[in-house]
Amino acid sequence: LFVPIGVLCGVSLIWATMYLARLRSSFDNRLKAAVRRREFYVEYQPVVDLKSRRWTGAEALVRWRTDNTTVRPDHFIPLAEERHLIHLITEQVISLIAEDLPRILKIDPAFRVAINLSPDDLRTQSTVEMLRSLLALEGVCPGNLEVEATERAFVEDQKISRVLEQIRSLGIQVAIDDFGIGYSSLSRIHSFRFDILKIDKTFVDTIGTEGAARGVMLPIIDIARSLDLHIVAEGVEREEQARFLQAYGIERAQGWLFSAPLSAAALSKELRERSHEAVECKE
Ligand code: C2E
Ligand code: MG
Ligand code: MG
Ligand code: MG
Repeated sequence: LFVPIGVLCGVSLIWATMYLARLRSSFDNRLKAAVRRREFYVEYQPVVDLKSRRWTGAEALVRWRTDNTTVRPDHFIPLAEERHLIHLITEQVISLIAEDLPRILKIDPAFRVAINLSPDDLRTQSTVEMLRSLLALEGVCPGNLEVEATERAFVEDQKISRVLEQIRSLGIQVAIDDFGIGYSSLSRIHSFRFDILKIDKTFVDTIGTEGAARGVMLPIIDIARSLDLHIVAEGVEREEQARFLQAYGIERAQGWLFSAPLSAAALSKELRERSHEAVECKE
């Protein structure tokens, strides 16, 4: 009896492996075709200065439009990373930003766009060249760009640290994204120099839950202060959260309270309307 069961298990294991391999290669082909057909597009979620509530920048977030539906990044970025195809998406995202940014800067020359990078992106020199090409565009200065990578990317890796240093030497600030979840061993990321800490939504969510917020948020704020980092809070949905963050000296935030991610056209329209207010509020 054991022999047939063993054979059966072996056969089904082989079958499952082949099936998975087929699924993966069909994903690879779909992704490559999507890049060719330009099915990716970018939305921009405004980042506000908490004190003035001015829109000082935005985070570029990729979306995939396929078969009349929009696929969220959480559903394809992890697989693209696993298949080492993420650079194809990053290239497309950066070229889309190159189209949008000059128009946005005509409205607000100081506007800053944050770009998400994956660990693979931080291992390749071409990422530095792509950022350099953005800086070569008319009106684009290093202060108009920011780069985000999750803590996952900040593990000890010579290649990553070299690319990060090159990005920083272009004058572009680097942010640790989703700070606090996962690999939050500061000792491991301590050897990289970065400028900004983005506090993950899970922590912002604790605000308003009876003291929990202070216990969780204050240590993070202390760490940031001691390392001389700027803080951006993400996933702010309620006014109470915005007030709390501002009271603790956090400068910038993003979240549905202020705005959902917008198309470049919608962002520009909004910025144009707000630019009148900005003149009146100038300090
Ligand atoms: P992230 O970098 O942490 O981006 C913030 C995510 O939070 C976005 O999800 C945004 O739409 C969502 N969000 C913002 N405000 C709120 C809020 O108030 N409430 C709630 N519930 N959610 C909010 P999205 O667009 O689905 O992106 C998911 C993740 O995919 C991003 O997380 C980022 O890690 C990754 N991603 C997005 N675009 C790119 C890209 O161009 N390249 C790479 N490598 N990764 C990207
Ligand atoms: Mg991000
Ligand atoms: Mg984030
Ligand atoms: Mg996040």
